[in-house]
Amino acid sequence: MQISKEQINRYIGQINLKKISIIGQKKLLNSRVLIIGIGGLGTPALNYLARAGVEHFGIVDPDRVSLSNIHRQILFEKKDIGKLKTTIAKKKILDINNKIKIQTFPIKINKANIKKIINNYDIILDCTDSFKSKLEINDSCLKEKKILITGAVSRFIGHLFVFNFQSKKIKSPCLRCFMPVEPVEDRQDCQAEGILGTVTGLIGILMANETMKEIISGKNTLCGKILHVDLDKTDFRLITLSKNKNCKH
Ligand SMILES: [Zn+2]
Repeated sequence: MQISKEQINRYIGQINLKKISIIGQKKLLNSRVLIIGIGGLGTPALNYLARAGVEHFGIVDPDRVSLSNIHRQILFEKKDIGKLKTTIAKKKILDINNKIKIQTFPIKINKANIKKIINNYDIILDCTDSFKSKLEINDSCLKEKKILITGAVSRFIGHLFVFNFQSKKIKSPCLRCFMPVEPVEDRQDCQAEGILGTVTGLIGILMANETMKEIISGKNTLCGKILHVDLDKTDFRLITLSKNKNCKH
């Protein structure tokens, strides 16, 4: 694949990093990334990956922009209220780079449609806000041997996971190794529990960062660990997450 003068100019800041170089940049340009949930996590993740040179995206979200979204969903403005999130996000990303190809899925992902959607992509970002969706996405990515980056946020707390189900060399844990089934308590969505925009922003950007590493080299990623962030205490922790013997995966 040839890289154009315009592309070199656009990405020179990161091409100058030895760990990226022209080779890594070409990998980013060729990668295909699916983002499920275009909200507090999905908007910063999509924004940063688009600016870094990922040029093929799928974005999934059935919702329309509301006033209360704008506090943390950084691709949306007041004039977008009432419009589909996928449509507005695509428009904003094309303003950054009109060469980017984005397929929009303004639907809720479920057991019946997920396989067909994820199969066109190499890396899946789970930016959803429900345990049920997270476990369904985990199970499908495991079955279809994808790389899955999962973010979770509530109040001042953020969690980040990386699962590599593609590599035969890595014994990746899965989300069920950490959370075998959906918690029984009736959890509210993150907005009802309270959520800080800087928490979703930080975890969304870190999801983009892990995605770039998986695309470029697969090295130094979070696979096998959980990142736990508490922005009330400004506390960052790495916790080991091994493959659980009792997990059927
Ligand atoms: Zn597992």
